[in-house]
Amino acid sequence: MGRICGICEQATSNEDWCDNCLEQAKRMRTEIQKRKVAKQEKQNSGFKKGDHVVMHTCMEAEEHDGTVWTCSSDEYKLHKNHDYNVVMLEGFSGAFQTQYLQKVHFSYPQEVTK
Ligand SMILES: [Zn+2]
Repeated sequence: MGRICGICEQATSNEDWCDNCLEQAKRMRTEIQKRKVAKQEKQNSGFKKGDHVVMHTCMEAEEHDGTVWTCSSDEYKLHKNHDYNVVMLEGFSGAFQTQYLQKVHFSYPQEVTK
């Protein structure tokens, strides 16, 4: 008597699952992993053209304290060998490191107490 797959109950010579089910489980894991990565990338995608941002915790932030900038590009990696992203800002010369930027949302609490 051969063994039986723990999932599809087909005869198999494998320890627990048949080749088919092993293959399927592998594909499923790969798919889940892919979705995780995609989700993370979405969360990290951060700054988009047209976003409003303020600078913080850098020299430029002191100089432009409280200034709201508009992104004139999407966030991008400055250099493939460098581990930080930059974005272009309207009226600012050169790219700016996104780690020193905070997104600004022009939304207000629904009820303002008097
Ligand atoms: Zn099976």
